[in-house]
Amino acid sequence: MDNLNNLYQELIIDHGTNPRNFVPLINATIEKEGFNPLCGDRVMLFLKIKDNIIIQATFQGEGCAISTASASIMTEILVNKTSVQAIDLVNNFIAMLTNTNTGIDNNLDKLPNKLLALTSVKNYPSRIKCATLAWHTLGAALQQN
Ligand code: ZN
Repeated sequence: MDNLNNLYQELIIDHGTNPRNFVPLINATIEKEGFNPLCGDRVMLFLKIKDNIIIQATFQGEGCAISTASASIMTEILVNKTSVQAIDLVNNFIAMLTNTNTGIDNNLDKLPNKLLALTSVKNYPSRIKCATLAWHTLGAALQQN
């Protein structure tokens, strides 16, 4: 388990310091800004959706390593997902991080492996809003569409 935690930590550090898809998307069909006042994290999410499929997802913004890593991993996972699948991911991911009343997490098997790296954030309640910022922003973006 320690090795797994180290692996997850490396993934978060990697995405936090070297975020993927960190560019504005000129021909985005959806743009949505999100802000986490607790930490000062700011994210601008860009989506290009065609025939109800997310064909490109990028982001910009300033934030701590956890919020940046979470947004970076999210934009990688979103490609080729439908809007419905993306909303499903948002709900599962946020439930996974905020559901503190059980030791066993029923949502884990529904999430892509990369996202499991962010489960360790659960142990730091003050950072949960950092990890969920991009996801709340995505949920809001898809609901306004
Ligand atoms: Zn933060």
